[in-house]
Amino acid sequence: MPFIDRFASAVVTGAPPILVLIGMYLGWMDHLLVWQDLVIFAICYAGIGMGITVGFHRLLTHRSFKCNRWVRAGFAALGSAAAEGPVIDWVATHRKHHQFSDEAGDPHSPHACEDHGFKGAFKGLLHAHIGWVFSDMEVADEERYAKDLLADPLLKFVDRTFVLWVALGLALPFGLGVAVSGNVTGGLCALLWGGALRIFLMHHATFSINSLCHFFGDQDYDTGDESRNLAWLAVPTWGEAWHNTHHAFPTSYRHGADARQLDLSAEFIEVLERLGIVWDVVRIPDERRQRKARIAA
Ligand SMILES: [Zn+2]
Ligand SMILES: [Zn+2]
Repeated sequence: MPFIDRFASAVVTGAPPILVLIGMYLGWMDHLLVWQDLVIFAICYAGIGMGITVGFHRLLTHRSFKCNRWVRAGFAALGSAAAEGPVIDWVATHRKHHQFSDEAGDPHSPHACEDHGFKGAFKGLLHAHIGWVFSDMEVADEERYAKDLLADPLLKFVDRTFVLWVALGLALPFGLGVAVSGNVTGGLCALLWGGALRIFLMHHATFSINSLCHFFGDQDYDTGDESRNLAWLAVPTWGEAWHNTHHAFPTSYRHGADARQLDLSAEFIEVLERLGIVWDVVRIPDERRQRKARIAA
């Protein structure tokens, strides 16, 4: 990869989090940010994040495990609070992505741009990251891609009441902030970190899977597309950045290939399995993994 590409991607991905950290430091010095806000942020980022990774993605899109209909609806409600769109629309779009991965019809491929070189790469990444959200060209037909979810009245209810779950996801940090500080200002500060910043970071974590994980990183498996494993992104995405492995084995409950590839969503599913809350967890046998591996394990 040319140096200029590496440099540009380091700047655009590295500068915003550094600036947020500087903002947090200044807030901390002025007592506008207190440690309770960071705990509330962590609770919201982890809980609602799992709603997307374990709920929307591994359970509802790929059926990586089974659970009862109330737990299913609970995951759908939790993921809805991330404000990434109504659950059935999210699932339909993602299933369409897997069907056409990096080919015509993929709702968000960074390789769809016809321009070449740096300009083409930038335009492609911008489209895959956020541009596609503003385009109605790539809307996935819910009847075609998510018929199973449309047939579930509980899920349909969660889908149609999307705004309510987003509002509850904002009420949670505000309520916790008021409870720990005893005043409305404390609630508003908690809302800023556990609501606004949490939505911003989670959006870009999800968008990065669509953009960066189809552009930068390693291809451990032959998938016939441009999906990549991007190790540094595995922590903020709860394991979703092992995206090439995921394209190789979409139904696997674990996206990281083994314990060395940190995948906290998979660890959470294992805990739920031990508690008897989920079952029929899909595991890929080692022989199948090795058959698809590009580099012999
Ligand atoms: Zn993908
Ligand atoms: Zn997927």
